[in-house]
Amino acid sequence: MSLSLISLPLPWHTKIWDDFNQTADVGRVPHALLISGPNGMGKMRLATGLAQRLLCLDTLNGIACGVCKGCQLLASGFHPDLTIVQPADTGKDIIINEVRTLCTTLSKTSQQGGWKIAIIAPAESMNISAANALLKSLEEPQDKTLLILVSHRPSLLPATIRSRCQKILVPHPDRLEARQWLSEVSGQDPRAGKALDVATGRPLLALEYLQAGVLKDQQLFEELLRGLQEGSQSGIYAAEQVSKLNMVNALEWFIAYLHAIVVKDQSLQSNQNVYLFFDRLNHTHRMVLSGSTVNQQLLWEELFMSWRQVFSHR
Ligand SMILES: [Zn+2]
Repeated sequence: MSLSLISLPLPWHTKIWDDFNQTADVGRVPHALLISGPNGMGKMRLATGLAQRLLCLDTLNGIACGVCKGCQLLASGFHPDLTIVQPADTGKDIIINEVRTLCTTLSKTSQQGGWKIAIIAPAESMNISAANALLKSLEEPQDKTLLILVSHRPSLLPATIRSRCQKILVPHPDRLEARQWLSEVSGQDPRAGKALDVATGRPLLALEYLQAGVLKDQQLFEELLRGLQEGSQSGIYAAEQVSKLNMVNALEWFIAYLHAIVVKDQSLQSNQNVYLFFDRLNHTHRMVLSGSTVNQQLLWEELFMSWRQVFSHR
């Protein structure tokens, strides 16, 4: 396993790693962790890194060594004692059979004689019966078994599950820290600062934007919004264009754009419709982030119609 395949701690995860290593060193790793925080902060990377750290047979300063048998199995993409459960497709639930299979695997003896670890991401994708099936595993924890739940929105998980997990909230890095990290991993890309702004300070999302050439999409999106505001743009055409973009990204750009213009324009600050629209955007964002399937064209047409109305009644 090359060192690049090991999930090294991100600078803003260092404290979490240190705390985890301390508990691991004294044999007090909890049975379940709930890692939460906004998307684009490296939650899955953290979960994978902690799993690698426990499955490594010869950790180096609290990080997987990259060369032992455990690390080699991880590098092959199949470690018999690590199970990752994710929705079969975007917007799909994690269903009871998947969780039952996982619980059966966790109840058996580990194949390599060490830890058995499962990562469920995003955990809020479990439907009610799947979550209930998982509860049994949480109520009767096995020795050297760790369940890691990764969640963008932990409030959607049943309280009975949340209360049985040790909670880890991934913090926002400060601007300088995020900027330094992003510049380094992007090969000093001059657009790093802009990408970080567009990603509202979330470094991994900013990196994704740089790598996928998403910045020009965001520019196009803002041009469409301005055109709608001025009444020079058709809502149907704008909806067609925006439907081709990643919906979560576009909704986040919309929220950030609205926030920025409200800060600058006092007349908008006293406009009740602006706040109602803001609520609606946030609600839609949460809905899409939780994996709800929507008709994008229709949804954007409705949002843009309301958006135009906000400005026509000024
Ligand atoms: Zn190792």
